[in-house]
Amino acid sequence: MKQKIINYKIVQDGLIILSDSGNEYKITKNSCSCKGFGFKRHCSHFDEALKLGLLEIIENIQNPNQLTSNHIKASRINAIKQFLSKQNIPQSDKLIEFLESKLTTKMTMKEFINLAEWGN
Ligand SMILES: [Zn+2]
Repeated sequence: MKQKIINYKIVQDGLIILSDSGNEYKITKNSCSCKGFGFKRHCSHFDEALKLGLLEIIENIQNPNQLTSNHIKASRINAIKQFLSKQNIPQSDKLIEFLESKLTTKMTMKEFINLAEWGN
């Protein structure tokens, strides 16, 4: 699936996302400011935010410690996804979850690829 959220920043009550169309939208726990969400009550930004674990960040904005760990996890997951697609390794939510739990900074790229293939 095409990536819709190119970047995001945390604001007081949600996230400002940069979409692939170059527009900025605001996502909260149950909304997105784009037109599509206004019509259908869901949109690709919101779906992707949910998938990336970004909604957890919003939920934990009141709790800074939790926020940090969820934020880090979301960026790690994002990085893993991008890496897997560059390597043409099929990715499932289960595999990504598995790799996120195993990934360390000491791991070499080769070790990571082996782990990804093993996880599949
Ligand atoms: Zn949207």
